[in-house]
Amino acid sequence: MDCLFCKIIEGQIPSKKVFESDTVLAFYDIQPAAPEHVLIIPKKHIPTMNDVTDEDDAVVAEIFAAARQIAAKLGIAESGYRLINNCNKDSGQIVFHLHFHLLGGKKLGPLLN
Ligand code: 5GP
Ligand code: ZN
Repeated sequence: MDCLFCKIIEGQIPSKKVFESDTVLAFYDIQPAAPEHVLIIPKKHIPTMNDVTDEDDAVVAEIFAAARQIAAKLGIAESGYRLINNCNKDSGQIVFHLHFHLLGGKKLGPLLN
C-alpha cells in the first residue's frame, strides 16, 4: 500500500519515535508547527476519522492514553497542549492514515480558522 505512515510503521521511512506499543506509534512531525509537535497514529491503516468503527474503540483509547503519556514525558502536561485531527480536504488533511497532532511547548494561538 502506498501510504507514507504505513511505511514509517514498517521502518521503510525513518522517523524520530517518541512512543511505541503493539497498536500505536508516535513520532515527531517533520515540519513542526510548535516546539513540541508529535504525530500519534494507529498501526492499523485507517484513512480518516470517518473510517473509524466500533472495532477501533480500543486503539482510539490507546491513542488518547499515548497522548497523555507523551505530554507527561515531554514535560508539557501541566503547561498545556493541543490534540488535533484533520479529516478530509477542508481540514487540510494531507496524509490519509489517521493521525493526531500533539502540539505544545509554547502558548498556542486561538483555533479560529
Ligand atoms: P495532516 O495535514 O495530514 O493532518 O498532517 C500531516 C503531517 O505529516 C504534516 O504536519 C507533515 O509535516 C507531516 N509529515 C509529512 N511527511 C512526513 C514524514 O515523512 N515524516 C514525518 N515525521 N512527518 C511527516
Ligand atoms: Zn497507512
